[in-house]
Amino acid sequence: MPALMSSPDDIWASCSSRLAQRVPPQPYKTWFGPIEPRAFVEQEERCELHLGLPSLFYQDWLNGHYSSLLNDVVDEVVGEPTSIIFEVESRASEPEPAPTSSSRRASEDEATDEAPSQERSRDGVEPTRPAPIEKSTLSGAYTFKQFIQGDCNELAYSAARAIADKPSGSSYNPFLVYGGVGLGKTHLVQAIGNAVQDRDRLRRVRYVSSETFTSQFVQAIKNNSVASFSAYYRSIDLLIVDDVQFFGGKEKTQEEFFHVFNELYQQGRQIVLCADRAPRDISGIEDRLLSRFRWGLSADMQAPDLETRTAILQHKAETHDISLPGEVVDFIANRITENVRNLEGALNRLVAYAKLHREPIDLAMTREALYDVIDDAPARLKIDDVQKAVADYYDMPLDRMLSRSRKQEIVMARQVAMFLCKQFTQHTLKEIGMRFGGRDHSTVIHACKTVEARCETEADYDRQIEETRKLVQRAA
Ligand code: ADP
Ligand code: MG
Repeated sequence: MPALMSSPDDIWASCSSRLAQRVPPQPYKTWFGPIEPRAFVEQEERCELHLGLPSLFYQDWLNGHYSSLLNDVVDEVVGEPTSIIFEVESRASEPEPAPTSSSRRASEDEATDEAPSQERSRDGVEPTRPAPIEKSTLSGAYTFKQFIQGDCNELAYSAARAIADKPSGSSYNPFLVYGGVGLGKTHLVQAIGNAVQDRDRLRRVRYVSSETFTSQFVQAIKNNSVASFSAYYRSIDLLIVDDVQFFGGKEKTQEEFFHVFNELYQQGRQIVLCADRAPRDISGIEDRLLSRFRWGLSADMQAPDLETRTAILQHKAETHDISLPGEVVDFIANRITENVRNLEGALNRLVAYAKLHREPIDLAMTREALYDVIDDAPARLKIDDVQKAVADYYDMPLDRMLSRSRKQEIVMARQVAMFLCKQFTQHTLKEIGMRFGGRDHSTVIHACKTVEARCETEADYDRQIEETRKLVQRAA
C-alpha cells in the first residue's frame, strides 16, 4: 500500500504540527526546530524518512528522549511503518580530530602563578616542554550545582554536562554557547571547566576572555615571546574562550587563535566558546575562523522563562540563607524578566535594603526596594490606585481632583492622573474618561498630549511627572 504522502517536506510539516501539540513550546523549538526533512524513500517492507540534524548531539538527545514519540508520529503521518534515518551535517572536507594522547602530560607540570605572557623565550624557537599551568582562572562559584536548568537553556546545559563528562574526543567540538547578556553563558562554560578540573587536577583547563587572549598576545609580541605564548595555548586540554565576538577586527590575534584552534582540534582537545550573538551575526571575524566556530555544536541561551526565574530566585535565596516569602518570589519573578543578572541584582538589592532597615523581607519592602528597577509597568494597577497616588503627590483631596473644577492646579493634577492611568492600567480611553467624572475619551487624549508636550519642554514638570510615576509604581 502506498504511503499517504510522499514528499519529505509535507510529511515533516505534518509531523511538526503534531509534535508541537505534544511537546511544550521551548523544548519543541530547541529539539525539533533545527530538523530538516531530507528524503522520503518508499520501500516494500518499510519506508524511510531521512532527517537532517545539525550535530550528533541532537541525534543522541532525540534518541534518548523523544525516540518513541517521534516514531509514533512519523508512523501516524506516513500511515506505514517508517524508519527514521538521521543524517548529521558532515564536514567531509575538514580535518578529523586525531585520537587524544593521554601520555603526553609531563610530570614537571606544576601550578605556578606565572602568566604565559610573562615567560620569556627567544622567538621562533619552540620550547621543548609546555609552559607551566597557571593558577586557575575559573571562578569557584560557577558550578553546575549552582546552575539552574530550565527550558530556556536545555540544549546548552545538557551539552555542557556531556562535555564535562567526556572532555576529550567529544563530538561537540567546538561547543559554542551564544545569547544575550546576563543569561548564564559564562557561568555555564566555567561550570564545564570546574567539573573537569575537579575530577582531574592535572588536566590543563584554561578559561580566558577573548580580550585577555588578545592583550596577552600583544604583550607576547612586545616581549618577543610569541613562541612560548603559542606553545602554552597549544598545550591546553580544555580551552574556554569567552566573548569571542571581541575578536572582531583584530586580524593578527584571530590568526594566532586560528592556529591554536586548529592545533587543539587536531589533537582532539575540547574547545568551548561563548558569544553574545549567533556566529552568523558576528562581524569582523574571518570566514575561515567563523566556519570553525560552527563545526561542532552551537547552542543558544534564551531569556529565562517564569519557572526558571522562580527556581533561580529560590535557589539563590536558599544558598544565601535568606528567607523569601512566596509572594516576594512571585513578585520579582513576574517583573524582572530580561535576564538572570538583573534578577540577581534585584535580590541583592532587596537583601541590602532589608539589612539596612533591620526588618524581615516582605512584599511591601520588596516594592519599596525595587520600585525603580522593575522593568515592566505593573499591569495590575487600578485606576483608583493611580488617582490616589497622584492626588497624594499634589496634596489635594481626591474628590477635588475628580471634580468639574477648572482651577489650574486641579486641571493639571487631573491631566497627570489621566496620563498615568493610560500608561499604567489596561483601561481604554473611554473607561478612563468615565472614571474621571464621566468625561469624554477626547478629554483623556487631550490630557495625554498636554502632559507629553510639557514634559518635552519643561524640565521641572518632567521631573514632577517622573516622581509621580515612581509613586504610582510603588502603589502596585
Ligand atoms: P552571561 O555570560 O551570559 O552574560 P553570566 O554567566 O555572567 O551571564 O550570568 C550572570 C549571573 O547570573 C551570574 O551571576 C550567574 O551565576 C547567574 N546565572 C545565570 N544563569 C543562571 C542559572 N541558570 N542558574 C543560576 N544562576 C545563573
Ligand atoms: Mg559572560
